[in-house]
Amino acid sequence: MMETQSDDAFPLNTKMTRWVTAGRRALQLGVRYALDIALPTLCISCREPVTGEGLCPACWSKLSFIAPPYCARLGIPFVYDPGPGQLSMEAIAAPPAYTRARAAVRFDDVARTMVHGLKYQDRTDLAPPMGRWMAHAGSELLRDADAIIPVPLHWKRGWSRRYNQSAALAKMIAKQSGVPVLADVLKRVRPTVQQVGLSRAERARNVQGAFKVSPLKKADVQGRHLVLVDDVLTSGATVDACARALLRAKAASVDVLVFARVVEAFKAPI
Ligand SMILES: [Zn+2]
Repeated sequence: MMETQSDDAFPLNTKMTRWVTAGRRALQLGVRYALDIALPTLCISCREPVTGEGLCPACWSKLSFIAPPYCARLGIPFVYDPGPGQLSMEAIAAPPAYTRARAAVRFDDVARTMVHGLKYQDRTDLAPPMGRWMAHAGSELLRDADAIIPVPLHWKRGWSRRYNQSAALAKMIAKQSGVPVLADVLKRVRPTVQQVGLSRAERARNVQGAFKVSPLKKADVQGRHLVLVDDVLTSGATVDACARALLRAKAASVDVLVFARVVEAFKAPI
């Protein structure tokens, strides 16, 4: 409305309209935050009130937990059990830099809502259950591990989102497993665009050389068995780039533990 008028014609009116709009927005936001504090926690998925942690039993039962049999390296579930140590086609065709990957759940609608809630909506109440399920799914990796390393955000993104979800999950897994977190070891040295919507090759290019071990922390990495922690594994390009950086800094091995992984279809072992 006022935008169509020139600022010179109604300078005061225009300014006042803008102030009122801004004020109203701030008030709405304030009311929303006040309500968030006053109301009980809502299930992140169906918005029903829950006591304690943010997923109700009905939505919990909709999650698709990943259990053996799966590919010994990538953790991709198999339709039938081919016996211990079997690899998927993907693991043989394009072996990753990391040794093993494990995930708590398949990335589906409920898992996506949880990941987004933790990442973008300040639903920090989701970190404890997610971290516990991850510690369970990754128990084999954590048994052999010296330290846990969260996938870092670039400082610009960390600031705008204020919250590193991988660090929050890593902290919970450390609490469960007793394996310590190594913070500030791995750095994102250049910003990367969001991986969403990129092809497999574009994803790999996007994160190539994006991570580096801090020169002062190389001794923390050298000769150690590490578990990288992230929220979602899609193509694996990000964790692969992180693993390469850690291996270049002479880590003994790097495993990967995520909350959810994309599984296109149940794969038959070869
Ligand atoms: Zn629910």
